[in-house]
Amino acid sequence: MELIRDIADWIATGWGDRLGLLFPLAMVGLIGLYVLWLVIGYLRVSQVGLGDGQGPQQVVALPSSGEGAELPRGVPYCAFDGLQYPAGARFCTSCERDLTLACMNCAATLSAGDASCYRCGTPTGAADVALLG
Ligand SMILES: [Zn+2]
Ligand SMILES: [Zn+2]
Repeated sequence: MELIRDIADWIATGWGDRLGLLFPLAMVGLIGLYVLWLVIGYLRVSQVGLGDGQGPQQVVALPSSGEGAELPRGVPYCAFDGLQYPAGARFCTSCERDLTLACMNCAATLSAGDASCYRCGTPTGAADVALLG
């Protein structure tokens, strides 16, 4: 029975040593994972930033319109600031108002977030862009 007790003691002390060694290693591993997560998050954010900067479509000023001039159809714009936004834009970055959009078919004035025209039912494309994004 002495031998068995010795073995039991050895296993117990052995586990104690192993836990003492594993705990700091586990902590280092967790910290490593946390740092990795932060780095991945940072890379994602910077990629999105780059994508925005390189986008082919930019916010441009509306063509100077006289009385009764026709606004570009199917393009979100802010009548308040006279800015024209790429397809899929919903809010003015300057004044934070909802953007307006002229129906491509009948030129009815819609909200840029509307999926289709209230008058003729023509899809505005806003829903498509939302799905792609
Ligand atoms: Zn505006
Ligand atoms: Zn319409």
